[in-house]
Amino acid sequence: MKNLFTKKQYAQLNEYLHLAKRAAIITHTNPDGDAIGSSVALSHILKKLKISSTVIVSNNFPDFLKWIADSEKIVVYTEKKSLARAAIKNADVIFCLDFNALDRIDILEKIVRETTVPRILIDHHIAPKDEFDLKFSYYPVSSTAELVYRIGVKLLGTKIFTKKTAEALFCGMMTDSGMFSHSSSYPDFFKIIANLLECGVDKEKITHLVYDNFSENRMKLLGQALSKMVVLPEYHAAYILLSRNDLKQFDFKIGDTEGFVNYPLSIKGIVLSLLLVEKEDYLKMSLRSQGNFDVNKLARKHFNGGGHKNAAGGKMFCTYDECGNEIEKIFEKYEKSLCRS
Ligand code: 5GP
Ligand code: MN
Repeated sequence: MKNLFTKKQYAQLNEYLHLAKRAAIITHTNPDGDAIGSSVALSHILKKLKISSTVIVSNNFPDFLKWIADSEKIVVYTEKKSLARAAIKNADVIFCLDFNALDRIDILEKIVRETTVPRILIDHHIAPKDEFDLKFSYYPVSSTAELVYRIGVKLLGTKIFTKKTAEALFCGMMTDSGMFSHSSSYPDFFKIIANLLECGVDKEKITHLVYDNFSENRMKLLGQALSKMVVLPEYHAAYILLSRNDLKQFDFKIGDTEGFVNYPLSIKGIVLSLLLVEKEDYLKMSLRSQGNFDVNKLARKHFNGGGHKNAAGGKMFCTYDECGNEIEKIFEKYEKSLCRS
């Protein structure tokens, strides 16, 4: 298997770990399968190294990830503020997983910036910021879970992965590759998957737990989203706007809109899809593309965000009524590159 990181990086990691008794593991706001899977798996690996750790997130994560072993121990800042604060303040080392800039952890950013302990990044997003003491950053891989697997093997060998750890890692790799449909076209990806299966992962069970666990309301909200979808074949693009009323009507729960943004891409000829969900003072945006059209660049330039070439996120600061027009103006600007993609 290809080495993604240098001996020097591992030596530095070992030095930090040698001095640590307690670790904080922090992952991005609106945590997804990779964020939760990679964080929990890292906490299992640290335990084997006799380092106790707490996983901390700024807000809650979807119910369809709550089967992950030990996810019930995750400290959600909005629910347990002082516990979250203490876990960060008392840590000897802080792991930052699945994000590339501290502003991705919202309220936790300030608490982390007040600490002086080493910050170790493990992440697969492009262009990590200079806010970390040690970076295990490599964007051409499927997921942070894959990086945690690789680092775990370097630290302790392949035998360390219990079934529970392997399931958490599998969940991260499966969800971030869209069930193996993208970001996974290299042999090492499937070699790791094969190793996880050897650790006892039941692929069918996990697929079922993650993808067949929705509420009736979520399916109806999907129906609403698809019926509101605007398709613009001249730009090879489509977008969906969901208002706060839509969310209320279908009793929105965190995680319910996950995956919606992928549907327009299954229309013949569509290479760019946007989903906008109205929040209190902005619109939260998900962007997906097919082929060469780079949504990371688009999100950075126009939507206060970023991510990967084919999957990114951001925010739009305009009203719900204005945003359709704004988006169509941006599509127009990119007409040529959209048509080439
Ligand atoms: P999703 O659309 O699934 O929420 O996110 C897609 C990708 O974009 C993920 O890799 C996620 O980490 C990243 N992302 C989502 N929202 C933001 C954001 O507001 N800023 C940045 N920089 N990245 C984001
Ligand atoms: Mn990820």
